[in-house]
Amino acid sequence: MNDDYKNYSPAPDLLRGRIILVTGASDGIGRALALAAAGLGGQVILHGRNVGKLEKVYDEIEDLGTAPRPSIAVLDLASAHNTAYESLAASLAEEFGRLDGLVHNAGMIGERFSIEQYDAVQWQKVLHVNLTAPFAMTQVLLPMLKQADDPSIIFTSSGVGRVGRAFWGAYSVSKFGTEALSQILADEHRQGPLRVNCINPGATRTSMRLEAYPAEDRSKLKGPDEVLAPYLFLLGPDSRGITGQSLDAQ
Ligand code: NAP
Repeated sequence: MNDDYKNYSPAPDLLRGRIILVTGASDGIGRALALAAAGLGGQVILHGRNVGKLEKVYDEIEDLGTAPRPSIAVLDLASAHNTAYESLAASLAEEFGRLDGLVHNAGMIGERFSIEQYDAVQWQKVLHVNLTAPFAMTQVLLPMLKQADDPSIIFTSSGVGRVGRAFWGAYSVSKFGTEALSQILADEHRQGPLRVNCINPGATRTSMRLEAYPAEDRSKLKGPDEVLAPYLFLLGPDSRGITGQSLDAQ
């Protein structure tokens, strides 16, 4: 596909009537996407682990005035077990009945060490938060996605999810796995309406980027609200039929 989606300009009511869960909605790209989706009429479910931060985003959405009232879903992806995922899915099913969009955005970068020096416990944690948790979340939410007419799942990748780079260790491996998970799921649903795609947001001015590159000139980076075009494109009806793709936001 061509990359027109990078300049996608959403219609004002693009997401009206769509129920969309964004993981990691408390900060960075997830927060910006939640605000933008709500501003386009989406009924947003704000997932995160920090209630105070989520409540601030909730208030910002309320302050938009025209957006549907959001919901908050608290789950620490590092420690949640099956029962927590199941009760999250059960409460969302009871409240909403279906899910039109699921954006796997939450993530952690972990330590930057060579493979020789990488701590095994840290390795497992990064793979768990970035890869196993989105798998678990997808699995429990699939029945709700199947209730929607035009459901869309978005995974978040990275440049190091496509080409390995020294010292990116578990983060890079988790993003390669994310690309695979996205492609497998897309292939398993070729026959139905569910589309599944991956986005690499590219270098974006967030806390995670600061952790990775503390010395860089941040004024040259795009802000989180400047990388959202492909997310909005994939969440709305204009991307019907597009599945199994890896998109770049920049
Ligand atoms: P960020 O500002 O650090 O935000 C990360 C989000 O994930 C926060 O909401 C954070 O919650 C949440 N999170 C982290 N660990 C969690 C856990 N254990 N349980 C629940 N939530 C958790 O990062 P970002 O830059 O926006 O990153 C968003 C996505 O883009 C990530 O998948 C990242 O890998 C990807 N990405 C970013 C860049 C970039 O340059 N920024 C480049 C390529 C890919 P708290 O607010 O509680 O910390």
